[in-house]
Amino acid sequence: MTTLVTGGAGYIGSHTLLYIKEKNEEFVVLDSLQTGHREAVQGATFYQGELADADLLDKIFSENDISAVIHFAADSLVGESMKDPLKYYENNVIGSYHLIKKMVEHGVKKFVFSSTAATYGEPVSVPITEDSPTIPTNPYGETKLAIEKMLKWADEAYGVKSICLRYFNAAGADPEGKIGEDHQPESHLIPIVLQAALGQRAHVSMFGDDYPTEDGTCVRDYIHVLDLAQAHYLALQRLEKEEKSGIYNLGNGNGFSVKQVIETCKAVTGIDIKTVTAPRRTGDPAVLIASSNKARSELGWNPEYSSLDLMIKHAWNWHQHHPDGYGD
Ligand code: UDP
Repeated sequence: MTTLVTGGAGYIGSHTLLYIKEKNEEFVVLDSLQTGHREAVQGATFYQGELADADLLDKIFSENDISAVIHFAADSLVGESMKDPLKYYENNVIGSYHLIKKMVEHGVKKFVFSSTAATYGEPVSVPITEDSPTIPTNPYGETKLAIEKMLKWADEAYGVKSICLRYFNAAGADPEGKIGEDHQPESHLIPIVLQAALGQRAHVSMFGDDYPTEDGTCVRDYIHVLDLAQAHYLALQRLEKEEKSGIYNLGNGNGFSVKQVIETCKAVTGIDIKTVTAPRRTGDPAVLIASSNKARSELGWNPEYSSLDLMIKHAWNWHQHHPDGYGD
């Protein structure tokens, strides 16, 4: 029994592979390598290609005894999605449509989906529970929500059981430093601050200091990438045991402002990092904090690395030793 992992060469995908490999799960990887890194995937059958390549998907499903899919492959930048929404509809919605269609054709009925807190938009109350209204403020969240809905109907019609994991802000790296975060170009807060600490950037721009939060900067719930990995493993296990679809938030339930993140990075690195205030980034909600009680009680999820300090320490270890990321 093998799991197909799409987007396994990306940041969260590669850490999940590391985690499930330690649990002796069999898997194969499909990644276009448009944003992922081949070096991030070791010891797995690797297929390079697109979700829209029907022949390639047929080949993967025929060559392997696939019983489940974990689907990471997607474009995932809020800012970019505002500028080029059609790219997000094509790669995320249409890409997932092709994948789910092939699963149905090949009789594969277990699906773990990489979803996002961006499906909620500006929350009506925090912490956010899974039954909160979903009104995305950007095309990235909108496309992920469209896929969740496609999965709901695929369950009704074809019996495809899915677990949608709505991540809050992924952070950190493998504690042993084998793999880490490398986006080209980088747009996420923590790696940007650490690049500034390494002298690769002159300063960090804080996008907006007039939000209705304590210090005026956006508040996010940071979650260690290996804790996300653990949730994917548990989701697979649950689908094995009980054929039931579900949606789960993954966060620590603690909010940190952009300013607090920068201060923690300064403390961890011991380096004074220059900041400047910049205009708001369009599509950014002011506060996103998760309630993850459902994942804890139903999946048995138990985050191991919940301190922001530890997430930044692990990320710093990776960036210090890989200042150019994977260097590809
Ligand atoms: N952010 C920032 N400066 C940067 C990058 C991000 O102020 O150079 C802010 C961003 O506006 C958001 C928070 O940091 O409020 C987290 O952004 P990130 O892109 O890391 O994750 P997102 O919340 O978009 O998933």
